[in-house]
Amino acid sequence: GHHVSSQRIRFQRRNRPCRYDIDRFTPNFLSIFESLVPSEEEIANQKQLLTSLSRLINTEWPNSKLYLYGSCANSFGFSNSDIDLCLSIDNKEMSKVDIILKLADIFQAGNLQNIQPLTRARVPIVKLMDPKTGLSCDICVNNLLAVVNTKLLRDYGQIDKRLQQLAFIVKHWAKTRRVNETYQGTLSSYAYVIMCIHLLQLRRILPCLQEMEATYYVKVEEINCAYFDQVDKLNNYGAHNRDTVSRLLWSFFHYWAYEHDYTRDVISIRTGRIISKERKDWTRRVGNDRHLICIEDPFEISHDLGRVVDKFTIKILREEFERAANILQFDPNPSVTLFEPY
Ligand code: ATP
Ligand code: MG
Repeated sequence: GHHVSSQRIRFQRRNRPCRYDIDRFTPNFLSIFESLVPSEEEIANQKQLLTSLSRLINTEWPNSKLYLYGSCANSFGFSNSDIDLCLSIDNKEMSKVDIILKLADIFQAGNLQNIQPLTRARVPIVKLMDPKTGLSCDICVNNLLAVVNTKLLRDYGQIDKRLQQLAFIVKHWAKTRRVNETYQGTLSSYAYVIMCIHLLQLRRILPCLQEMEATYYVKVEEINCAYFDQVDKLNNYGAHNRDTVSRLLWSFFHYWAYEHDYTRDVISIRTGRIISKERKDWTRRVGNDRHLICIEDPFEISHDLGRVVDKFTIKILREEFERAANILQFDPNPSVTLFEPY
């Protein structure tokens, strides 16, 4: 039947070598990367907004602290993206929703614009726009795991510049092909960055920071988050491997198109290895978690970042991985064709 023959094709392509001229495209991919990186000015504006909002909030809650998280702090953010902020506050009397509503009042008084408290979302947030810098942001409350996983991603990004290059290009591909929409059943940017880290760990371009002796330690919501964060000591780690970003891009898509075993494997940057679905008891659907593509969260290890993917979107994703792998293998102009809008 169809299933058997498509499995056979996948098997045959599993050991296909990369095209010999892949490195010809490296300058093109690098210039796409450069065009997406935020400017110094934009980064300075983000810092300034963080400072001015912190001041405003601290007059009401002196013991609270505002953190940047997500793409503007993890080093995988494009220019002109929204800013994610998280308020850490110890207040037993107020619920998260009360705090969000109070924040909206504080911002109103501070002359910020487009203030929208979204109190019924799964993660309640308040949105606003700062007229001085033109930046928009989302602020959530006490979501410290996101602050910690942002630091982990940023620390990985310091070790080898190819991670940032690869992740930017993968994110750009995912956005243009519309497979970066969690509410539609495809993967988050956070998941794509973790997929890139995992590939570089398998290639020994990145170490596994959580398996090394911990130099950073925090306990968040009963989860012990510990890893080696003195990454400036690791800046030669991947130097033995000379793969360019175009070759790594080929490897990334080839892996997800033809090598990954969707029935058995879970990728895990926590261990730097592939682990089995069996071991995690992720072999069957439980509630809404289908485990059709398994990406372990580095700290919330019971959390599969692929759980949003359903039986329709898994097909879309795998077709997109195959399309990308084939473009990188055969197309005369991969740095153009890869990003043709869906
Ligand atoms: P983009 O450039 O697309 O906005 P982003 O890096 O901000 O990318 P998001 O996927 O929007 O990525 O996630 C923002 C942050 O929220 C992540 O950096 C991470 O800290 C946290 N996060 C997102 N999804 C999850 C998840 N499923 N589990 C845990 N943390 C998550
Ligand atoms: Mg974001």
